[in-house]
Amino acid sequence: MNKFVKVHVMHCGDVKVDRRLAYKDSNLDHIPFVEQRSEEHQLWLPVSCYLIEHPNGTVVIDAGWSEDVRTRPEEHLGHAYKFCHPRLPSGQSVKEHLESKKIAVKNIDHVVISHLDIDHISGIHLLGDAKSFLVSEPEWNSAKSFQKARCEGITFETFSLEPIPFGPYHLGKDLFLDGLVYLVFTPGHTEGLISVVARVKDGWLLLTSDAGYSEKSWNQLILPGNSTNDQQALESLKWISSFSKRDDCVAVIANHDPSVKYGIY
Ligand SMILES: [Zn+2]
Repeated sequence: MNKFVKVHVMHCGDVKVDRRLAYKDSNLDHIPFVEQRSEEHQLWLPVSCYLIEHPNGTVVIDAGWSEDVRTRPEEHLGHAYKFCHPRLPSGQSVKEHLESKKIAVKNIDHVVISHLDIDHISGIHLLGDAKSFLVSEPEWNSAKSFQKARCEGITFETFSLEPIPFGPYHLGKDLFLDGLVYLVFTPGHTEGLISVVARVKDGWLLLTSDAGYSEKSWNQLILPGNSTNDQQALESLKWISSFSKRDDCVAVIANHDPSVKYGIY
């Protein structure tokens, strides 16, 4: 019986946003459209997906961009295109990454969606043959109809929050019931945002999704530009900050951090 899992951090294209979308700024109460402000306010950020190899199953966290964004980005994103412009080089869709690792989508046991923002579910149909799709109950229950429409044809299993040893509220899900992969309730950016804590060879790896956008988010407690609940977003950042200081924490990885190291943990 393995005592750890392997986590592949995959670079699934990029997104251009106004800086204010990633980092809340009390001087600006709204998020400007992409390129509405000058170039110095624009950020190109990576979009990440993760593959987790557990002895009892294979998991993909988030779906990144659909390959449709290569040819018709505006049509694919709809209203969201005002706030984020996608870029998906050849070989970087989640499916292309899995193909390069010789992993068939039909052999993926769980696709876990951290939250329902477009840059995390756009490519979900690329994973349509996976065995199951998981999203947290509070995330699904608060989903807008256009978010559900983007997932048409995908049957989500929603999971309720149970007591776990991690997170600001000690709530989430022990995915394989063996303490190796926890889905951790870290709300604030969205109502049901899930981070992932995985036991890798050298300790614990924390994948924060969009609870923070980069290391400075939790070091300086800078809220994500978009949040459904600022107080919860702050509690989530405080928990990430304290987790990052644990001796057994291997790395804390935000989904959109330009300094993220791609590779295998
Ligand atoms: Zn995101």
